[in-house]
Amino acid sequence: MHYQPKSDLLDHRIILVTGASDGIGREAALTYARYGAQVVLSGRNAEKLQHVSNEINSLGKVESRAFPLDLDSATPDDCHQFAVRIAEYYPRLDGVLHNAGVLGDIVPMEQIEPDVWQHVMRVNVNTTFFLTQALLPLLLKSEAGSLIFTSSSVGRTGRAEWGAYATSKFATEGMMQVLAEEYRSRNLRVNCINPGGTRTKMRASAFPNEDANKLKTPTDIMPLYLYLMGDDSRRKTGISFDAQPGRKPGAAE
Ligand code: NDP
Repeated sequence: MHYQPKSDLLDHRIILVTGASDGIGREAALTYARYGAQVVLSGRNAEKLQHVSNEINSLGKVESRAFPLDLDSATPDDCHQFAVRIAEYYPRLDGVLHNAGVLGDIVPMEQIEPDVWQHVMRVNVNTTFFLTQALLPLLLKSEAGSLIFTSSSVGRTGRAEWGAYATSKFATEGMMQVLAEEYRSRNLRVNCINPGGTRTKMRASAFPNEDANKLKTPTDIMPLYLYLMGDDSRRKTGISFDAQPGRKPGAAE
């Protein structure tokens, strides 16, 4: 995406990023802070999150804070308590990037272990939904909130052996579409980002034989992440965007 954001694009914005400890989420958190946002970091590993927070705070722009939450074990009540804690520090949320996700096993459907299926659904769908419910009141306090889910090309067209992950990403697309319709006439837009093959830990575990140098890095795909959090996308809702339009799904060639 060719997008030239203004350097103050996210000034005065408060943005929460899940899975901010690594990969795309870490890069998004750092990028949002560079463009002026106060970033609220979430993830399951408090120590890794604190490193990212320190890195952001060393930019000397705005302070970030880390709020650990394990999406595999969090209950709806934990998500509610999480929102209560955030509300103690922040008056509203102008953006939420649901980025945390897990892959599960790449095996035929008939071989998926029930525990793996449930783990993928809990992290990618169920707790992401409970967290969304808990955070909606804070998002609706923004005059122009942006709620972003993270999808995948296998959330649009199924692929053999990607059963649990693909099913979870189809559910993510559905959740986005329903919410976008429900808030269409309100001050909240809801969209999906499909990052496309990106050089991260998850990608390396999905395609262990791929040449990672042929992949875009998290930094390369940030223009879309910025566009959807800033005012330039204010009228966009219910859309599933590609961070790498035209990229053919599957292993890098
Ligand atoms: P990574 O595995 O590099 O990072 C995933 C992030 O999610 C990490 O911060 C991780 O935390 C966090 N996370 C994992 N499990 C939990 C949990 N139980 N509770 C809270 N946080 C958790 O993945 P990517 O950066 O590659 O992926 C980011 C998103 O992009 C995912 O939703 C993925 O499905 C999607 N995506 C990625 C593509 C790619 O090519 N990379 C392509 C298409 C979609 P920790 O640091 O503790 O591991």
